[in-house]
Amino acid sequence: MSNEQDSPINAIPAIIPRPEHNISRGDISDAALKVLYRLHKAGYAAYLVGGGVRDLLLGRHPKDFDIATDAHPEEIKKLFRNCRLIGRRFRLAHIHFGREIIEVATFRAPHNQGGGEGVISNGMILRDNVYGTLEDDAWRRDFTVNALYYNIDDFSIIDYTGGMADLQAGVLRMIGDAHTRFQEDPVRMLRAARFAAKLNFRLEAGMAKQIHELGEKISGVPPARLFDEVLKLFQTGHAVQSFEVLKDLELFGYLFAQTDALLKQGDAYSEAFIRQALSNTDERILVGKPVNPAFLFAALLWGPVRQEVMLLQQQGMTQLQALQAAGNEVVAEQLRQVTIPKRFSYPMREIWVAQARLPRRQGKRAYRLLEQPRFRAAYDFLLLRCEVGEPLKELCTWWTRFQEVDSEERAAMIKRLGGGKKRRRHRKPRSAEA
Ligand code: ATP
Ligand code: MG
Repeated sequence: MSNEQDSPINAIPAIIPRPEHNISRGDISDAALKVLYRLHKAGYAAYLVGGGVRDLLLGRHPKDFDIATDAHPEEIKKLFRNCRLIGRRFRLAHIHFGREIIEVATFRAPHNQGGGEGVISNGMILRDNVYGTLEDDAWRRDFTVNALYYNIDDFSIIDYTGGMADLQAGVLRMIGDAHTRFQEDPVRMLRAARFAAKLNFRLEAGMAKQIHELGEKISGVPPARLFDEVLKLFQTGHAVQSFEVLKDLELFGYLFAQTDALLKQGDAYSEAFIRQALSNTDERILVGKPVNPAFLFAALLWGPVRQEVMLLQQQGMTQLQALQAAGNEVVAEQLRQVTIPKRFSYPMREIWVAQARLPRRQGKRAYRLLEQPRFRAAYDFLLLRCEVGEPLKELCTWWTRFQEVDSEERAAMIKRLGGGKKRRRHRKPRSAEA
C-alpha cells in the first residue's frame, strides 16, 4: 500500500461499509454513543477515531474513545452540560460521564494550512489549533492505523491514509514524511514504540533508523508531557514489551538516563529488576488490580539509587542515610527529564527508605512499620529484590508470615528475633569512659 502524500488533499477515501468490518455499536461505550448521536442530531459530523476504532477493528477493548467532529469547541460545549474545554496544545472538549471522559476534538488542519495559527519553532509544533475538514484531520494524525474514522451516520469506516491495509498487515506507518513528523513532535517516536509494543506491530521500513537519528529530540519535550507517556508505556498492560522496544530503538535513555547508563554498562541486576517489576505490573493490570506510579518509578530508578547507596555506604554513611541521600540525588537528576508529581515522588522515596527499615523489626518497630501507609508497597518492593536474587529470603518470609499470623504469634516472632535491646545494654555507658 503506497502512502506517498505528495498531494493528499482532495484524495478519495476508501469507505468500508458496515457489513465489511467488525465494529458494532455494542462495542462502543454508552457514553461515546451518546456524544456521537447528540452531535449528529444537532447537524454536525461525528466520528469515532483514533485508538477506539483501531483497537475495535483489532478485536481489542479500547482504553478510551476519542471523537472527531466539525463542531467547534464552543458549539460542543453548548450541546453538553457535562462538558469542559481543556488543552493548551490542542483545544479539546472533555465530556464527563461519571468516571468516563469522552474526548471530542474539532477537525484540525495540518499546521501549515488553514488559518496559519500553528506556531513552529525549530520544526516543532507549539500550537495546533487550526480547524479543518475531515480530510485535513485525517492527514495530520500520526500513524495510518490511528486515522480511521467510524461514521455514526451510516456505520461505515472512512480511510484516507491506507490505515485498513496497514492494520491488517500489522504495520505502523507514519502519515507523511516520518522524518518531518518526528521532528514536528518528537513524542511521536515514543508513541511509535508504544504502539509497536502494545499491538505487536512492526515499524514500517526505515522508521527505526529515523528514530535512531532523531531520538535526541525527545530531550526538548516538556518533562510533564513525558510523564504522561511513561505511564502509557508502562501502566497499560504491555510494560515488558514497551521496555524491550524502547531499548531496541535506543529511546529508553531519553526517559531514564541514569538507569539506561547502568543497563549499557551491563548491569544485569538492574535489568532483571526492571523486567520483574514490569512483568508484575502487567500481571496486576491483567487481573484488574490497581497499579501505582510511585512503585513504577521506584522500580525504574532503583538501579541508580542502589549503586549510589553502595558508594555512600563505603564513604561511611549508614544504609538509611545513604538511601535518603541517594534517593534525593537520583530524583533531582530524573526530574530534569521526566516530571514525577510530588504525590508520587514522596511515596517513591518512602519505598526506598523503607528498605533500610524493614530488617529492623525488634520491639515495636515491626508493628509501627506495618501501620505505615506505604508498608505494602515497601514490602512488595522487598519481595521484588528477593526475586531477582538479593539474599533477603529470610527477611521476606518473615514479613510475609508476620502479616498472616495472629497477635500472639506476632509477639512470638519478634521475641524469637532476640537482639535489639540486648546490644544496647552491653554498650558501656558514656560516663564510665570518663
Ligand atoms: P490509546 O488511547 O490507546 O493510547 P490512541 O491512538 O487513541 O491510543 P491518543 O493519545 O488517545 O492515542 O490520541 C488519539 C488520536 O489522536 C490518535 O489515535 C491520533 O490519531 C491522534 N494523535 C494523538 N497524538 C498525536 C500526535 N502526537 N501527533 C499526531 N496525532 C496524534
Ligand atoms: Mg485514545
